[in-house]
Amino acid sequence: MTDPSSLNPEQRSAALERMATETFEVVVIGGGVVGVGAALDAASRGLSVALVEARDFAAGTSSRSSKLFHGGLRYLEQLNFSLVREALHERGLMLNVLCPHLAKPVPFLYPLTHRGWERPYVGAGMILYDTMAGHDGVPGHKHFTRRGALKIAPGLRPDALIGGIQYYDGKVDDARHTLTVARTAAQYGAAVANNAPVMSFLREGERVTGVRVRDLATGREIDVRAQQVVNATGVWTDDMQHLVGERGKFKVRASKGVHLVVPRDRIQLDTGLILRTETSVLFVIPWGRHWIVGTTDTDWELNKAHPAASRTDIDYVLEHVNRVLTQPLTHEDVEGVYAGLRPLLYGESESTSSLSREHTVAVPTPGLVAVAGGKYTTYRVMGKDAIDAAARGLDRSVPASVTERTELLGAEGYWALWNGRRRLAQESGLHRARVEHLLNRYGSRIEELFALIRERPELAEPLEGAEDYLAVEVVYAASHEGARHLDDVLARRTRISIETFDRGVKSAEPAATLMGEVLGWDAATIADEVETYRLRVEAERRSQEQPDDEAADEVRTAAPDILAGTGVPGS
Ligand SMILES: Cc1cc2nc3c(=O)[nH]c(=O)nc-3n(C[C@H](O)[C@H](O)[C@H](O)COP(=O)(O)OP(=O)(O)OC[C@H]3O[C@@H](n4cnc5c(N)ncnc54)[C@H](O)[C@@H]3O)c2cc1C
Repeated sequence: MTDPSSLNPEQRSAALERMATETFEVVVIGGGVVGVGAALDAASRGLSVALVEARDFAAGTSSRSSKLFHGGLRYLEQLNFSLVREALHERGLMLNVLCPHLAKPVPFLYPLTHRGWERPYVGAGMILYDTMAGHDGVPGHKHFTRRGALKIAPGLRPDALIGGIQYYDGKVDDARHTLTVARTAAQYGAAVANNAPVMSFLREGERVTGVRVRDLATGREIDVRAQQVVNATGVWTDDMQHLVGERGKFKVRASKGVHLVVPRDRIQLDTGLILRTETSVLFVIPWGRHWIVGTTDTDWELNKAHPAASRTDIDYVLEHVNRVLTQPLTHEDVEGVYAGLRPLLYGESESTSSLSREHTVAVPTPGLVAVAGGKYTTYRVMGKDAIDAAARGLDRSVPASVTERTELLGAEGYWALWNGRRRLAQESGLHRARVEHLLNRYGSRIEELFALIRERPELAEPLEGAEDYLAVEVVYAASHEGARHLDDVLARRTRISIETFDRGVKSAEPAATLMGEVLGWDAATIADEVETYRLRVEAERRSQEQPDDEAADEVRTAAPDILAGTGVPGS
């Protein structure tokens, strides 16, 4: 029997065939973390479920976050204790139970700048933060003198701090995590398809009874019938509601956040950093051989599929981080830039930074559940709440959610494999550092990559232009992880598009050739994928030189989209 969690063209065709013929209990729209979380919640309760994603898993906000499983220290300051407690509980679950192969603890130094009140004030917040987290294996906070802080953060200007406090949160490769949740949902029976946008809703009188989906591979339109439809489309929530033709119960607006990626050697730190800004906070997050620095927070009403970073955004991040660095960063230090859109529920306040990150579930029309808001960290709770609401509309009793106890794909056996990594290195012939890299991306599914290498030993070679990754990872992305276009591999299955100065252009052809072997691409298709990717990179670079959002958006959206002309939103 084929493994249902292997997302590949055959699985996708079979899933779409099921969608054309079965009536599902639940169909979920949106392959961001909230949608895949809802699909896994439903599948693991024994419900029949379909998940459709317009572009690629995590192509929206869920590949463009700060990549933190965090309680949100600053929500403590807003006295939002229940949100912090809930998020810290989720952080512990991710790090210890659900996906320890993907989520790791990460330290942040908070530089103190005021004598007197600040250390006791922030220190008390950190005590509360650690206490709320309980014993979840994450180290507690630590106080430092200025000298002590400069020892772990020698790149900080001595006059930028009078001391510091270090605390821990969790970090994760968001796109990889979202994909892993989607694969886990498929493992428990969900019919899963990407490149499959919802074009309209099916109705019986006032009731929503399913969705019409376009298969972008064939152009075929499929009516997917379901007792309950879950709208989990993040910043596209209102567009979906518009397709229903009725007013929703809440509205979602987009706030843009931009991050920069710089090489590790450009900032001399042995810890991450959290800095206060006028309106919010700025993180410097260790990311492999890089740092991720961000973010901004501004309203965005332009193209939602390809939010563009302008020069103003980049200058903002550089200016704020440079305030504390002995060796300021310049534009030349920036390897990668990415912009994401926060799906914010409409609030009372005018300033986006203080809008609630809490989520809402509503039933705007019989048969339709909408879920939005929240944050990455609480996706599991959002998925559970959405399916609880859907379950109330089903004609049978539904078991309670079990996702708190349902390990994600690759988590089972991870610790034992991690302890045995020396043996795995010997057996596979790979360097131990390579085995560690693979274990922290695929967990116990590393065996599937070893099997591919045994068949074709040349796949153990590094990928040209992005030596941190192995060729086998590109093949696996197409054969097991649902990658259908070059962009899926360079921007989400790997993060080559933000981790290399050429933004993946050098890797484009070798990666397309490897993918093409799995997906049956001819020379013309490979050339088209490579050229479209190259034009995307060029447009992104040019948009990042523009002074404002409008100019950046115009330049970015002028580049061709591999999904153009297919009716997919934003293409
Ligand atoms: C800059 C930034 C930093 C952040 N940092 C953090 C952080 O560190 N920690 C944290 O907890 N949270 C963070 N967040 C918040 C978090 O990333 C989001 O809350 C979360 O990713 C939203 O997921 P989602 O599934 O709701 O939306 P999305 O990921 O956008 O998913 C929606 C999906 O719906 C699909 N879709 C749209 N229309 C259709 C259609 N017609 N048919 C089918 N599919 C459709 C889209 O293609 C998309 O993939 C951050 C957000 C931003 C912007």
